[in-house]
Amino acid sequence: FFEKIKAGLTRTKENIGHSFDQLFAGELDDDFYDQLEETLILSDMGVDTALAASEALRQRAKEEKIKTAPEARDALKAILTDMLTVGRGELDLTSRPAVCLFIGVNGVGKTTTIGKLAAALKADGRRVLMAAGDTFRAAAADQLEIWSQRAGVDIVRQSEGADPAAVVFDALTAAKARNADVVLVDTAGRLHNKQNLMNELGKISRVIDRELPGASRETLLVLDATTGQNGLIQARQFKETAGLTGVVLTKLDGTAKGGIVVAIAQELGVPVKFIGVGEGVDDLMPFDAPQFVEALI
Ligand code: GDP
Repeated sequence: FFEKIKAGLTRTKENIGHSFDQLFAGELDDDFYDQLEETLILSDMGVDTALAASEALRQRAKEEKIKTAPEARDALKAILTDMLTVGRGELDLTSRPAVCLFIGVNGVGKTTTIGKLAAALKADGRRVLMAAGDTFRAAAADQLEIWSQRAGVDIVRQSEGADPAAVVFDALTAAKARNADVVLVDTAGRLHNKQNLMNELGKISRVIDRELPGASRETLLVLDATTGQNGLIQARQFKETAGLTGVVLTKLDGTAKGGIVVAIAQELGVPVKFIGVGEGVDDLMPFDAPQFVEALI
């Protein structure tokens, strides 16, 4: 997995990995910090987060009397790892059934992520049920059904145009009857209509409250890492609308530059819980901050 992320992250046009290598081969002068900021920004970290990281390194270098670039590289890794450590990194699946809602705009990899996670949870001995809450597009439920077959788990769906909250109600009823451990709910990602989205998620939320009071619940935003800073804008909007417990960052095997994870943790205070590193069923991994930073820097 580490090699996969690393391969993905260094396959970028700007070749960020190479820039860090060059940077940490030189002197720790003012020029170094300018170049560091630039390289961090190029890695998709965003200006504010890049400046914060660079300033933190400057401070630490002073306090710890760091003189050489390799030492500075280790210090930067520690700083970024700290910046990435926010909130609970693992899914809360304590209640039975627990509910995970997946939100995000179309095409980011929601369905694929649900499929991969269903397979992983099943392999872990959990009984999983999928709810096809994206009733806006028939193709979405079809796609999810293919994943449910691939993962060998049950799915609850209704016809196109059905009320997503009704699908969730059905799914929770089925989950209770079948003793499921986890319900994974797909939703429609209509961010362009915020009011609709908010109404829909609010209604789903009330159904869960009513049917499973006090249940463990995750609201996971799925973001496509290759969209860079755009992903951050989406994340801000979804956070306002939905109260996120975590982010899944997909397509880190492609041309993504990866720095976006630091910006998400830093600016939104929401932990990245999983990363997607391919289209296959095994290509989802729990987010590991030190490992990720090692691949990034
Ligand atoms: P949804 O509209 O959000 O449900 O997105 P889908 O799950 O249908 O995914 C959209 C496309 O992205 C599909 O072609 C997936 O195979 C692809 N995809 C999803 N996750 C990943 C990933 O981690 N890496 C790569 N390379 N492709 C992915």
